[in-house]
Amino acid sequence: PLVLGIETSCDETGVGIVRGQTLLVDTVASSVEEHARFGGVVPEVASRAHLEAMVPTIERACREAGVQLRDLDAISVTSGPGLAGALLVGVASAKALALALGKPIYGVNHLASHVAVDIVEHGPLPEPTMAMLVSGGHSSLLLVPDVTNDVRSLGSTMDDAAGEAFDKVARVLGLPFPGGPHVDRAAREGNRIAIDFPRGLTTGRDMERHRFDFSFSGLKTAVARWVETRQRAGETVPVADVAASFQEAVVDVLTRKALLACKEHDVEHLLIGGGVAANSRLRALAQERCDKAGVNLRVPRPGLCTDNGAMVAALGAQMVAKGREPSDLGLPTDSSMPVTLVQA
Ligand code: ATP
Ligand code: MG
Ligand code: FE
Repeated sequence: PLVLGIETSCDETGVGIVRGQTLLVDTVASSVEEHARFGGVVPEVASRAHLEAMVPTIERACREAGVQLRDLDAISVTSGPGLAGALLVGVASAKALALALGKPIYGVNHLASHVAVDIVEHGPLPEPTMAMLVSGGHSSLLLVPDVTNDVRSLGSTMDDAAGEAFDKVARVLGLPFPGGPHVDRAAREGNRIAIDFPRGLTTGRDMERHRFDFSFSGLKTAVARWVETRQRAGETVPVADVAASFQEAVVDVLTRKALLACKEHDVEHLLIGGGVAANSRLRALAQERCDKAGVNLRVPRPGLCTDNGAMVAALGAQMVAKGREPSDLGLPTDSSMPVTLVQA
């Protein structure tokens, strides 16, 4: 099937076109620069930017893929979770397209799309696959028997998401927004065992009760305290060492719990998705530990880890291929759509 996917859950206006399991085009217009001076995404600014970017981005995607809208078999769109106003722009646009073209529409979960995108990169998903979703708003371990209609949550973050922790620590270190990629870059020059930062929910009763849950707010606070103490003493902060040690604490916990989940659920395939999956140290350590454990690791290329339209098209194409019913043309947006609900 030929499917066009629209993504507008945050600050990226993404339009992707997929034919079956092949990505034809992935077009992203980002309003990130408009938000940078506020140190975070401003919902109203994002909605307006989506509205302005939507039609040109759809036109560009079709032009670059050499696709006519009338040739599409279906439209898919992120129905949640995300910023309410931003989601509305994408869903309203998708509905208008579907109505005008007389094509079916699939309202899909942004988080399941972060997983499904790997199909256009590495082929069909083994069933089941263990998926670790690590992004700006979520950190979850998911057992995925079928990405089109059966996603089970084994655990998630109790407080901050992994990406949120990266962004907050970046701010403490004086690095620009969004901080994840900057921490990643700074860490390359640093010593990851310079500072022993805490690994949340990994020992004793915490580990028993929250086997597959995460907690990053204690770590974020520990980093902030460590930095403040040096600053107050008039010492220069070793930014690269702090970045590397913080990053190591995050990716150590993530990969440990992901592999434990694979082992305990007897799953041989681990997929890592979401913006934080672009992190170079996470990718390296996950590969190292998966090799040791005999687990097959799949991580999309960095450009497909952060928000994009290809991921929505990839999940939409999978829905069509598996014969799933389309969504109602009146489908709602759901800003807090649960990770286990694949379709709206
Ligand atoms: P969600 O998917 O939960 O709705 P989101 O869509 O805002 O949240 P993504 O676009 O999936 O999030 O990911 C963005 C997050 O990924 C940001 O927090 C960003 O800092 C982080 N990130 C991006 N690249 C890297 C990197 N190389 N290292 C660490 N974090 C990164
Ligand atoms: Mg973004
Ligand atoms: Fe995302």
